[in-house]
Amino acid sequence: MPLSDITDRIAKEEARVGRVPGSTHLIAVSKVQPLDRVVAVLEEGHRVFGENKVQEAAGKWPDLKQRFDGVELHLIGPLQSNKTRQAMGLFDVIHSLDRPKLARAIARIANEEGHCPQLFIQVNTGEEPQKAGIMPDDLDDFVSECRDLGLPIVGLMCIPPVDEEPTLHFALLAKMAKRNGLEQLSMGMSSDFERAIAQGATHVRVGSAIFGARDYD
Ligand SMILES: *Cc1c(COP(=O)(O)O)cnc(C)c1O
Repeated sequence: MPLSDITDRIAKEEARVGRVPGSTHLIAVSKVQPLDRVVAVLEEGHRVFGENKVQEAAGKWPDLKQRFDGVELHLIGPLQSNKTRQAMGLFDVIHSLDRPKLARAIARIANEEGHCPQLFIQVNTGEEPQKAGIMPDDLDDFVSECRDLGLPIVGLMCIPPVDEEPTLHFALLAKMAKRNGLEQLSMGMSSDFERAIAQGATHVRVGSAIFGARDYD
């Protein structure tokens, strides 16, 4: 689907639910996509991209950032502690702050480097055992802990369970953000970004609807 179809759909949904036009940021999720598709979207003028693996992003984005000005890179996948420093150098925004140990590692490295990406806390809204994220009951304490560490927490992120209506999870995330004085919400993917916008998403993470299906072999 052309990029303009997605931006049109975002604008329509913003208008339908009375959101400020342009208040939803579109993160084009380029993981696993062939380079020519990513370059095509850059050539259309889009600059905000998401990747879920540090290693994969490190393999393609330094070159692309040289070729295209103003790229903004978002890490949307789990971050292993041993890749924290590398990720903090490569990404402008990290959406997957999901545990106290990682918060402490980021704070320590931010002190050393004098620089820290913006951070979203990932919340496991479905309380799924196999999924990353802070449990809803632990969130308020974790936000305080991150603030005490001086971390630039800007919002919350979630990935709803695949077999449930995402709207309930988006609404829960919005409620938790509000309660904690956080303004940004990273929620909504190809199949549900309009429903996320209706619940207040400020960042939607859209991959296959822009680039086509991912081919993992
Ligand atoms: C891959 C991925 C997306 C994009 O998924 P699509 O269904 O292709 O839009 C969004 N968020 C996260 C965390 C992802 O890993």
